[in-house]
Amino acid sequence: MTDTYTALVNQPMGRKIARALGLPQPAALRRYEPGQNLVDGSVLVLGDGPAAEESAEMLLGWGLEVRRQPGDDDLYGAVIACYDGVGTPADLSATTVALGSVQRQLGPSARVITVFRDPSGTAEPAVRAARRGVEGLTRSLAHEMRRGGTANGLVLGENTALSVPGAAGALRFLLSAKSAFVSGQFIPVITDGGTVPQDWDQPLAGKVAVVTGAARGIGAAIAATLHRDGATIVGVDVPAAGEALAGVVNSLSGTALQLDITAPSAGETILRHCAERHGRLDVVVHNAGITRDRKLANMDASRWDSVIAVNIEAQLAMNRTFLAAAGQGVDGQAVVGRDGLHIASLASTSGIAGNTGQTNYAASKAGVMGMVAATAGLMDPSAPAGGSDGSSVEGTSTPHGTINAVAPGFIETEMTAKMPRATREVARRLNSLQQGGLPVDVAEAVAFLVSDAAGGTTGSTLRVCGQGMMGA
Ligand code: NAD
Repeated sequence: MTDTYTALVNQPMGRKIARALGLPQPAALRRYEPGQNLVDGSVLVLGDGPAAEESAEMLLGWGLEVRRQPGDDDLYGAVIACYDGVGTPADLSATTVALGSVQRQLGPSARVITVFRDPSGTAEPAVRAARRGVEGLTRSLAHEMRRGGTANGLVLGENTALSVPGAAGALRFLLSAKSAFVSGQFIPVITDGGTVPQDWDQPLAGKVAVVTGAARGIGAAIAATLHRDGATIVGVDVPAAGEALAGVVNSLSGTALQLDITAPSAGETILRHCAERHGRLDVVVHNAGITRDRKLANMDASRWDSVIAVNIEAQLAMNRTFLAAAGQGVDGQAVVGRDGLHIASLASTSGIAGNTGQTNYAASKAGVMGMVAATAGLMDPSAPAGGSDGSSVEGTSTPHGTINAVAPGFIETEMTAKMPRATREVARRLNSLQQGGLPVDVAEAVAFLVSDAAGGTTGSTLRVCGQGMMGA
């Protein structure tokens, strides 16, 4: 699980050799630590639409040093390029050329964030062409970023201002070291939903979060990260992983629930546990997943069915239970989603690009992305009104909340450590950051998406893959 090569080329001699031989030079990525600066260095805000003014004001409110014009001697920790006013592809020029002029002034692990409106929000060909143009330039720039830098986009709904809480949450996530392995991606903020937390370092304070598959790997990292952010953790895993599960949740002062999520009553069992032990359920992370790889010609029904059952059918069944309970409560008590229910589900870049030997796995993970897109339509992302119990929209059974997916690429886990050495070494380098991600990178994306500050984002899939070459 250690990437010796990356460690080596971050030593002076290793760097020299890699440079001389033209080998990949993956940078040591800046990752989140409590108390660190949101951005190292000043932030340049480019563009003249309303989003530029709004973002400059927001950044100043966060205590950042903001520049509105490029300066020759400045070193930037981030650039926010606002394209919200573009009406035709010719309008992309001024901001993009200015962005290019400061590329050599970006510090290590710098962030470029483009801000633009949802292309599908307009039927006007020139406007849509311009907005899609921003996607294209953002993805290309992400390939060109150096020294651990990333480029991502924040996509605003047609009538959504950058000043809404959901946009603030997304902007902060993309600026911060929490998005270390997210590059070439777009976060849609399509509604005015979301609330700004009282403390940005404790965005899940007071929440109860269920994490399935929490005994090890990415699930254990998600549990630790949600706990760091203030949540009480309910870790779920199969009885065979009971000891490891207890180890994880005990270290986080949470509770453990030994449960096979494919059991027909799994959703009910989780609800009952949360009601009895914690009195509430606010966040669900569907992380448990399995692989049973075989080329289709060698695929038997048991390999196919078990992957579909664990990776997608179980999630569909549990969501039905949780959404119904959010509307009705448990034993007359509002347990689920009192302040809104937030669900995150683990997909995979395999579900986007496909992968040899993974027809079953890719079907299940593409299914997850379909599930979140459709389930978002059954939920109201707006924050519950003060005074109501919040579990459902007043007078209806529509629950308040959001659902999104996270699609990891190559992540350094026990699973990927078992790959043949040569395959692993190639897979690791096939992304713009030229290294594998860490479980915590996936966990940070999940923690952001299940927070109230991400309330403007629902039905989407966020890739955590370092802009992997696999998939669109
Ligand atoms: P892992 O195999 O290390 O951990 C999965 C956990 O889920 C295990 O603790 C396992 O016991 C549990 N689990 C399996 N079936 C279960 C069931 N029926 N009921 C309850 N718990 C069950 O996997 P990981 O690498 O940490 O991956 C976590 C998630 O991320 C999975 O959904 C996986 O598909 C996805 N993912 C991983 C990668 C990667 O590179 N590791 C890449 C893309 C997606």
